[in-house]
Amino acid sequence: MEKVIELEDVWVRYGNQTVLEAVNLELKEPNGLLGIIGPNGGGKTTFLKVLLGLLKPYKGSVKIFGKPPEKSRDLVGYVPQYRRFDFDFPISVWEVVLTGRMSHTGFLKKYSEEDKKAAEEALKTVEMFQLKDRQIGQLSGGQRQRVFIARALATNPKLLLLDEPNSGLDPHMQDELYRLLNRLKREMAIIMVTHDLSAVSVYVDRIACLNRTLHYHNSKEIPVEDLEATYQCPVELIAHGVPHRVLERHKGSS
Ligand code: ADP
Repeated sequence: MEKVIELEDVWVRYGNQTVLEAVNLELKEPNGLLGIIGPNGGGKTTFLKVLLGLLKPYKGSVKIFGKPPEKSRDLVGYVPQYRRFDFDFPISVWEVVLTGRMSHTGFLKKYSEEDKKAAEEALKTVEMFQLKDRQIGQLSGGQRQRVFIARALATNPKLLLLDEPNSGLDPHMQDELYRLLNRLKREMAIIMVTHDLSAVSVYVDRIACLNRTLHYHNSKEIPVEDLEATYQCPVELIAHGVPHRVLERHKGSS
């Protein structure tokens, strides 16, 4: 079966700042939730942009479903960082989700019945169809997050990418979000990047660290070597030239 993701020795820099160093990651399972953890400014969004083909590494190879990222865009859904949106923009829930179909339909083209059906199904999946005519600015944070997930689901992706989906949500809303991801992961591969996986850790099948620097659990700093014991699931370091390596200290102690 085709691998979902294959990154080999990927390096990215902005000007002379290297942001991703020797990233190696292989994801084979078509279902499940992979958490990518790293501190703020640690290159998590950059990493997602590489998977989306929006940024080209200056070194290394990236394959998504066996193809270069720009050729597999139709198979990938993306939920950008929620706090970057301007919620005063006058647009309804229904319109937001339909824009997810633009890659199929083309910009400023008329939406087809198929587009509308896909948007309806996506909104039903996240249990937001009944609010489809609401303005996005009238929703709670958790509801908005679900609308943006529906937008990403409207193209029926096989891989769903989420950038800090838990930020700005209170614990109850976070819990609803994680239960939704837990349901969705049966049908697709999901990758979420975040600086703190503590609340979602029960649903995560695998954790990858983008670097050795600070990691957090319940807002407390913990060393990368202690992550595996903290999260009780496989943890690997995927950057800085340390590919596919389960942290040795815990391998030895288990
Ligand atoms: P994270 O998502 O982990 O917070 P980012 O990938 O957004 O990290 O950013 C990693 C580093 O790259 C930061 O130091 C950030 O300032 C820098 N950076 C991000 N995007 C750009 C850009 N377009 N141009 C220059 N520097 C950038």
